[in-house]
Amino acid sequence: MNDALRKAREILRDVTPLKSDCGRICGARCCQSLEAEESGMLLFPGEEEAYRDKAGWILRDTSAGLLVICPGRCRREERPLACRLFPLLPVIRESGIKAAADQRARGICPLLRQGIRGLDPAFVSAAREAGNLLAQDAECRAFLLTLTAAQDELKELRSKLGADMTTGEVY
Ligand code: SF4
Ligand code: SF4
Repeated sequence: MNDALRKAREILRDVTPLKSDCGRICGARCCQSLEAEESGMLLFPGEEEAYRDKAGWILRDTSAGLLVICPGRCRREERPLACRLFPLLPVIRESGIKAAADQRARGICPLLRQGIRGLDPAFVSAAREAGNLLAQDAECRAFLLTLTAAQDELKELRSKLGADMTTGEVY
């Protein structure tokens, strides 16, 4: 695992979207698979080595990228970066890295109804800092650029459908 990725995971190891356990609000919806569907988390480049040959964790190559499917429970230090960042995602803009509400999380996470500013500022700032670190690694930067483009497509689609887009991104 490259240094940037290791540090990004570390920064997000202990901070969470709220100071309290937000899983109690929603029954940990982001950890539930949809019925009859095995959903997984997209791994950042180099992250797979933490899950290869790890009992109960399955790697799956998909058109979207390499996914890890978890056993449904985990210790904080085992979590993939995608789970540590959820419901945020660092996006790359001309003006720098922003911590953005992950468009894929909007239908899942009730916290995003209040917008990104309802989240613990320490968590938002850790997500942005993790993005800054990842952007220093060529492969992770390329991955973030791909995710940023996908976010923009989803955002445009949501906007066309008349969704409220005011929750935005913050530095
Ligand atoms: S869906 Fe949102 S509120 Fe629920 S556990 Fe996940 S991050 Fe917390
Ligand atoms: S790895 Fe942990 S945090 Fe991520 S979905 Fe699985 S149980 Fe939830």
